[in-house]
Amino acid sequence: MVEIPKTCRAAVLVEYGRPLEIQEVAVPEVERGGILVKVEMAGICGTDVHQQRGELTIKSPLPNIQGHETIGRIVRLGEGRVIDAAGEPLKVGDRIMWAHADCGECYWCQIERDPVLCAKRSGYGWAPPSALRGGFAEYEYVTPKTNVVKVPDELAEEEAVGVGCAFRTAIAGYERFGKVGLMEDFVIQGCGPVGLYSTVVARESGARTVIVVGAPANRLELAKKWGADHVIDIDEYQDAEERRQMILELTHGRGPENVVEASGYPPAVAEGLEMIMKGGKYLILGQTSAATTPIMPSRINEKGLTIVGSVSAHIVHFYRALQFLKAKREKYPFGEIISGTYRLEDINEALANMASAKEIKPAIDNRER
Ligand SMILES: [Zn+2]
Ligand SMILES: [Zn+2]
Repeated sequence: MVEIPKTCRAAVLVEYGRPLEIQEVAVPEVERGGILVKVEMAGICGTDVHQQRGELTIKSPLPNIQGHETIGRIVRLGEGRVIDAAGEPLKVGDRIMWAHADCGECYWCQIERDPVLCAKRSGYGWAPPSALRGGFAEYEYVTPKTNVVKVPDELAEEEAVGVGCAFRTAIAGYERFGKVGLMEDFVIQGCGPVGLYSTVVARESGARTVIVVGAPANRLELAKKWGADHVIDIDEYQDAEERRQMILELTHGRGPENVVEASGYPPAVAEGLEMIMKGGKYLILGQTSAATTPIMPSRINEKGLTIVGSVSAHIVHFYRALQFLKAKREKYPFGEIISGTYRLEDINEALANMASAKEIKPAIDNRER
């Protein structure tokens, strides 16, 4: 049996707007059905920056351990936990990822059968240090109600860690978006991780032309490697009407059938409504802030648009995202999204480099070396 320490190091958010503190925290007992993992890699998300600054609409009580996109290696399996969500046997040493814990009892879990909307979802990266439920630590505790999936052996941590937030969000969004016709055009607004994953899924959905609108240039370069035919750099083309004209030229004068909003920038929604083709579909994936923005609502009915919103994901989307990566890893350099890795003690530097967009996505790398 693997030796489990009584305590481990974790980066703790003690006060909003202050650097995270490395503290020694207790490792909890593993209950029936629970899983203790050693954190191999923990991705850093734009949300982590806003969380650390206290800018999110929901403020979790302090102190807490952040980090909600983690690959963990199982060190202790609670009694009764023998398979993952896909029915694969679980054993000590396996690498896993996990979704929020949903309650299984509320109206959305039971009647709507849509656990993403569970009224009592319990996520990772927001809990007090005693729960050890954040990725910015040496170990993490996965609760009995949390669904897990194994990470396929073929995938390096750099390839898979983006599943933990951005990629499962994109997969869940496309599922709600519904069937996409062959040889339709796509515009992806935004080239952060959600935009990049939305690009590669559009490419693999049988798109004719995929256009990515965003910045900075290093992210747009990766968008091209992940299947974008054209990129429009908003640092270079700052006028929305000019961008709309460029998109019209690239889409036979009609505009794209499909627009995916992955920018998180509220005014992008008005721009999306202007550029989209009559009869088109709009997927809103990126908006997380409490901000409001002017739009022209008549565009929606006059153009006969379908607008679909989606947030977060369930374990099925983790599974499908991982299977997508496994199937397409020879075709696309998925690992390049992790533009920098950091030791746990350098977490504040990693957060700063995410905030400044110097990194596409940084990650905490706890792997033995
Ligand atoms: Zn995230
Ligand atoms: Zn529920």
